[in-house]
Amino acid sequence: SEKIVEVKNLKKYFQTKKGPLHAVDDINFFIKKGETLGLVGESGCGKSTAGRVLLRLLPATDGEVFFEGKNILKLNGRQMRKARRDMQIIFQDPYSSLNPRMSVEEVISEPLLINKIYKNKKDINKRVKELMDTVGLSQRLVNAYPHELDGGRRQRVGIARALALKPKFIVQDEPVSALDVSIQAQILNLMEDIQDEMGLTYLFISHDLSVVKHVSDRIAVMYLGKIVELADYNAIFKRPLHPYTQALLSAIPIPKVDVEQKMIILEGEVPSPVNPPAGCRFYGRCRHRMEICKDTNPTLTEVEKERFVSCHLHP
Ligand code: SF4
Ligand code: MG
Repeated sequence: SEKIVEVKNLKKYFQTKKGPLHAVDDINFFIKKGETLGLVGESGCGKSTAGRVLLRLLPATDGEVFFEGKNILKLNGRQMRKARRDMQIIFQDPYSSLNPRMSVEEVISEPLLINKIYKNKKDINKRVKELMDTVGLSQRLVNAYPHELDGGRRQRVGIARALALKPKFIVQDEPVSALDVSIQAQILNLMEDIQDEMGLTYLFISHDLSVVKHVSDRIAVMYLGKIVELADYNAIFKRPLHPYTQALLSAIPIPKVDVEQKMIILEGEVPSPVNPPAGCRFYGRCRHRMEICKDTNPTLTEVEKERFVSCHLHP
């Protein structure tokens, strides 16, 4: 199916006193229209930064991001404001991402007002109502303030706001990590229903592979600023190829995995992203490391159809 998002050689470095921090270091991937691509990795691996750079919420250091064929990193302010309508984000923490002084109605209608979507108040109210229905929020809450809502309802407000401009693509950055486990499934199911109804495309970012597993069509695994493996959901879970993916998977209970069911304990620390190692970034922790891995960085390579891995074991 057609690619809606395409990321090419994307880099994001932050300047620090010790030198440039390689948060996102030359990543490449695409997202197909209507699918959910899961982006998974430990905290600090660069996945959230990648999501923000992709939407131009943070400036890229280098690279290209194509949305429906247009490089959005090259758009001017006016063009970008227009493109922004199609590309939204849902944040992890509905507690801090919503303005505490704005009512539910104000939060949801703000993007409609900023973009001058409707001319009169009546149409705005109607649309807010519609959005609240879509995300399963009772109309009684229209004048409530964020602190009066529980976490799940706050996240529903965030989702309604993200949907207000009828986007095509949504980055979900740890959308359920701050929520009670009992609420998580409700929100994930809601996002799935909305996706089917509106034909949305998602990038779903999470540190939690057991959550990513429930929602993703394909999965990209990130480690220290790089994508180390990217493949179909089934391929990743049945036969992970990268040693890091294998270790991640071994930590969650999954039936019928072809790797050792024993938990793989990763030894050593994640190296600093300020001075990343010259060779494979997983070298210090890898059970399969070889001489070549020390100085030669593997590149993400298509080893089977639509199956990408960055490891010298799979040249
Ligand atoms: Fe391990 Fe070498 Fe593969 Fe890196 S390239 S994951 S060190 S085997
Ligand atoms: Mg889906």
